[in-house]
Amino acid sequence: MDVYTLPRDALGDLMENWGQPRFRARQIWSWLYDRRVDSFDDMTNLPQALRDRLKAEATLGTLDLVTEQTSRDGTIKRLYRLPDGQLIESVLMEYDDERRTACISSQAGCAMGCVFCATGQMGFARHLTSDEIFEQAMHFARELERRGERLSNVVLMGMGEPFHNYEASLAATRRLMSDLAIGARHITISTVGLVPMIRRFAEEGLQVKLAVSLHAATDEERDALLPVNRRYPLSELIEACHEYVEKTGRRMTFEWALIAGENDTSEQAHRLGQLLHGLRCHVNLIPLNPTPGYEGAPSNQDAVQQFVDILAEYNVPATVRVRRGIDIAAGCGQLKSDVVKRQRRSEGSPTP
Ligand code: SAH
Ligand code: SF4
Repeated sequence: MDVYTLPRDALGDLMENWGQPRFRARQIWSWLYDRRVDSFDDMTNLPQALRDRLKAEATLGTLDLVTEQTSRDGTIKRLYRLPDGQLIESVLMEYDDERRTACISSQAGCAMGCVFCATGQMGFARHLTSDEIFEQAMHFARELERRGERLSNVVLMGMGEPFHNYEASLAATRRLMSDLAIGARHITISTVGLVPMIRRFAEEGLQVKLAVSLHAATDEERDALLPVNRRYPLSELIEACHEYVEKTGRRMTFEWALIAGENDTSEQAHRLGQLLHGLRCHVNLIPLNPTPGYEGAPSNQDAVQQFVDILAEYNVPATVRVRRGIDIAAGCGQLKSDVVKRQRRSEGSPTP
């Protein structure tokens, strides 16, 4: 039994079944989510016998840390093993201000097959449960708490496509808000562009931010980079985005990984400007993180600047993101690829 999977009522029922007063549930809840302790021993206002029973019969989480790397810029990248052996990644980014942002996974692998993405290159293994999604943030929240800091932001931008695992991703998101007190505006869900789910998300009445991974402004180019575009072409996608912005009154974000000579040309910039002109949005430009399965390279600084300048002509605001944790392969799916490769090498089997 994992305590993080128990809703408040269930925790109360458990205490009753164990012959404890129901208020113990409230105490435990506060240790879990307000004080964010990582052991039952720390729950010092519980009777020793209850702590012992919890230790014997319950766990504080199910994710098993396989490796952790800290980058020069302080970014922490983790690989966890799930109870069935699947591997997933989470990242914690620290900024100079108070912001502490967790980037968490929604699936083991991904079915969308974007050609430049390390996770896409592995294929799909399975959906994560909402508890598995939530717990990734919980671990960082716990550790930050220990050094007197708070987890302030969460992005669902790790491995997997959150809208392909819609219910679990949304359930986890709601728990981030209710249990970890993270404001909706400090949570971002990033999607490759699953149009029906963008529509559904617009109906949720949440202030959670939406990011759409665009990466190309023509169907021809986008088909080649993001196979999902054949199913939901640009015209439908952009229409759904307009609906989202109208319905929610919220600005949205587009992500664009700049690939040298591929989607960083002035022609693509003009097309993007035309495509997004008049839509309340913001473009995040991220120089490509090179991955073993894709030949593309990140754009150079001049191309990036030219791209930003052209978008400005169309009144489309754009910012260039700093690549965090670049020295530790903190691109989506890259740590898992590295570790699996090392394991294969040490087991003596050939590396693909
Ligand atoms: N599946 C979702 C969220 C996870 S990917 C999505 O695709 O939006 C998070 C972001 O990282 C996406 O914008 C994705 O396109 C981008 N990304 C993936 N691989 C990348 C790489 N090698 N370099 C730069 N960005 C990458
Ligand atoms: Fe999946 Fe997102 Fe990677 Fe595409 S970019 S393969 S949707 S994780």
